[in-house]
Amino acid sequence: MEQALEQARAAAGHCDVPIGAVVLDPTGALVAAAGNERELTGDPTAHAEVLALRRAAAHLGTRHLYGCTLVVTLEPCAMCAGAAVLSRVGRIVYGALDPKAGAIASLFDVVRDPRLNHRPAVTGGVMADECGQLIRQFFGMLSGGDVSEWPMELASKASVGQPTEGSNPSVTATDG
Ligand SMILES: [Zn+2]
Repeated sequence: MEQALEQARAAAGHCDVPIGAVVLDPTGALVAAAGNERELTGDPTAHAEVLALRRAAAHLGTRHLYGCTLVVTLEPCAMCAGAAVLSRVGRIVYGALDPKAGAIASLFDVVRDPRLNHRPAVTGGVMADECGQLIRQFFGMLSGGDVSEWPMELASKASVGQPTEGSNPSVTATDG
């Protein structure tokens, strides 16, 4: 989760909501990592989990990630939960809950639906405080909070009052 948090912090550097993900192989070795890149690439599907799963598949040379673990700082959305099922990861580990879009516990449980033919194991709430705090800080900063600890590019964006789409300091989390 520390490595996923590292990816999340890096995402904030390009004004993306700080969400990060990594994929570990069955031995626990890191095979892929990604942060949210929606703002960076202008791609609405460039969530950290999707990017990490794609990179893991490319690295391992297979679209089936049997025995691998997807670690992500925020509860995956419906798209990413679906991508995790399609990739056949063995386990999903997530940090903070996403009450607005989460599709593993909050709104839906896509990954343990008995009607689907693959159901990864799930471990939630890992370093949830750290993971959630990073996102709350991000939105607090965009709404005029303390920008001193954030990268210059992001701080300047905040200071001219151009919050990213959907930002809302009152939410605890958002889609990523
Ligand atoms: Zn997602």
